Amino acid sequence: TAEEAKRLNPREFAGVIDLDKLKTTASEKGKIINVALVGNPNCGKTTLFNYASGSKEHVGNYGGVTVDSKQAVFKHNGYTFNLVDLPGTYSLTAYTPEELYVRQYIKEELPDLVINVIDSSNLERNLYLTSQLIDMDIKVIIALNMYDELVESGDRFDYQKLARMIGAPIIPTTASRGEGIKELFTKAIDVYEDRDPIVRHVHINYGTEVEKAIGRIRANIRESKPISDKISSRFLALKLLEKDRQTNQSLASYPNYGKISSVAQEQIAHIENLFKEDAETIITDAKYGFIDGALKETFQEGQINKRDITHSIDRFLTNKYLGFPIFLLFMFTSFYATFELGIYPMNWIDRGMAMLGKFIGEIMFAGILKDLLVNGIINGMGSVIVFIPNILILFFFISFMEDTGYMARAAFLMDKLMHRMGLHGRSFIPMIMGFGCNVPAIMATRTLRNRSDRVLTMLIIPFMTCSARLPVYILFIGAFFPTYPALALIGFYILGITFAVIVARVFRKILFRRQESPFVMELPPYRIPTLKNTLFHMWDKAWMYIKKIATVILLAVTIIWALEYFPRNSAGTESFNAAIAQTEQQYKNQIGQIDSYPKMEPEQIMALRDSKIRSLEMAREAKRLENSYLGRIGKGIAPVMSPLGFDWKMSISLLAGVAAKEIVVSTMGVLYQADEELGESLNLQNKLKKEVHSSGSKAGQPAFNPLIAFSFLLFVLIYFPCIAVIVTIRKEAGSWKWALFTAAYTTALAWVVSFVVYQVGNLII
Ligand code: GDP
Ligand code: MG
Repeated sequence: TAEEAKRLNPREFAGVIDLDKLKTTASEKGKIINVALVGNPNCGKTTLFNYASGSKEHVGNYGGVTVDSKQAVFKHNGYTFNLVDLPGTYSLTAYTPEELYVRQYIKEELPDLVINVIDSSNLERNLYLTSQLIDMDIKVIIALNMYDELVESGDRFDYQKLARMIGAPIIPTTASRGEGIKELFTKAIDVYEDRDPIVRHVHINYGTEVEKAIGRIRANIRESKPISDKISSRFLALKLLEKDRQTNQSLASYPNYGKISSVAQEQIAHIENLFKEDAETIITDAKYGFIDGALKETFQEGQINKRDITHSIDRFLTNKYLGFPIFLLFMFTSFYATFELGIYPMNWIDRGMAMLGKFIGEIMFAGILKDLLVNGIINGMGSVIVFIPNILILFFFISFMEDTGYMARAAFLMDKLMHRMGLHGRSFIPMIMGFGCNVPAIMATRTLRNRSDRVLTMLIIPFMTCSARLPVYILFIGAFFPTYPALALIGFYILGITFAVIVARVFRKILFRRQESPFVMELPPYRIPTLKNTLFHMWDKAWMYIKKIATVILLAVTIIWALEYFPRNSAGTESFNAAIAQTEQQYKNQIGQIDSYPKMEPEQIMALRDSKIRSLEMAREAKRLENSYLGRIGKGIAPVMSPLGFDWKMSISLLAGVAAKEIVVSTMGVLYQADEELGESLNLQNKLKKEVHSSGSKAGQPAFNPLIAFSFLLFVLIYFPCIAVIVTIRKEAGSWKWALFTAAYTTALAWVVSFVVYQVGNLII
């Protein structure tokens, strides 16, 4: 009957079942509190974590940014907090790796309390997870995050009433501005010390029939040896009703598991028959019923609906026709600013470095130390340092796009395109992260459900132009493609994506034949980021680059310099020494016979002599460089590289770039200083333009032209990503196989592409 159906309706709000007191988790307590942050993806957990602990973990306005648990320790009011940021999850069923991970963490690590971060602009969905936490019998505090948005939207929410209803304190927070965080942790101490009056243990009332079923299963579980008191028997019973595999597995060791299981089967059959619905769905519905009811009593929607605003913005930004052009316009603006605005500070730093070099050159005695400082470190590191402004600007734009939520739309736009090409839609977030650095991007592939999708994504992430490659692009574009630099720059990024797509398609065909699994890409609401946050975010990414300059690049520069500096003398240079001595002698004689040159002043003769000697010295230096250890290595690999248009210096730079791609530039900074004419200081761009082949059939011809530069940049884009990336792939894919495969195929592909471009280009030109 209708009456009957109404009584049984699982979506009916039946309130809670009260238990007076939450059992105390620990009998003896220290002043150390272990806290886990649990919440939906993108509700602000990491932002809160960073603010509370002063950490700098990655945040972004899209799901799947945090893939690992991150720990931090900090003090508050005399207590030490061990705070853990867990991956975002919508639920605690064991369907996805994140869900399983979070659940295991709570069950095995037994945090003293869980801070459930909820996004106040989407209460219903966020509270679903809360309802599961309530089931688990753990101490929960709720951080009502994005409180600023709630206030702004005019929604009215009596969160204190809800807190009393569910027995968990709720503290409003705005993590992005750090508001409410102190109060949150003060409350955490109260709850930990059992001083909070609100905290009590409640159960969601699932309705008469389900409760009866729970009771029966529970009785059987209790009969069994009292297993760990940590997991409530009610929770286990509920999970059995939900046919949870994990719970079944963990209960299998109980002496009377057979009985428990058969009772559970019986009860499932009973309620499924009664409701004509899957048992799991019945419980899910009951939870939503509970949430609906609770919100009906406490929540009143305001005038301004954030969702509506987001929808109307999305009508433009993800429009079928407008979306893509707008995306390209955004990209173009970012790259234009990166290039054009970056030029000014770049020149200042350039000049500063030149002055520093000159200054040190004047105050120090000539010798090995001066050479190391001026020609090695200042030239090498300086050539990389000048790009910091460009990197800051690009990261500012990327951070801004991430923080507003536009990045998720960009991924969505690309997704449609990519799906047709055999690439998984979810792969796009890791790929976009690859613009910053490929290493975290490869770790972010953990959000992919399916292993072959995951490995495939790892294999193509190296095509995403990371910040280390930016200096190489800017250097060469500035020197050889100065007409439309921003377009050229965006072109290389797009080329990278194109390679990624083509390679993905090929690998999907030959290596990973399985079809990709369908997925839903969530579009978070647009948020106006605080300038402080975006700057912080930008700085955070750039900091990695700066740290690298001070460590890896300094080391590499020193090694390259030493290989270049030694040996000081060789057979080839001796003849120049003799020639120089002879020239000096010759002019000395001429000055002695000054009368026989009546038309010339002695100064003019001296100047003539000096220029002759200088060109001899330069030739000697070139010879010496060729005979240096570095020169010999370069000559060794040059035959392999010359079909691509590269001379030995370029080959050496590429070889050194295996450690990290900025080193391509810093190595050039060290290598090309040799040609510097005395007194005149050129920046690296101009040196490249002036560089000529010193020997061989092409002697005297320029070493670079736009075709060679293009071939070189393609090689840099495609070849061996860097050691850190290879090691990360090894770690994430679990074996050396894929790591070595990546190293090999990228390098081979780079060679082939540069070869074809250079050879075909030469035919056309
Ligand atoms: P997580 O996935 O839960 O770790 O979420 P994140 O910490 O990465 O944050 C998601 C997005 O929400 C980021 O763009 C944050 O800047 C933004 N955000 C976080 N907390 C707040 C807040 O209290 N108010 C507003 N307006 N935005 C926030
Ligand atoms: Mg996070």
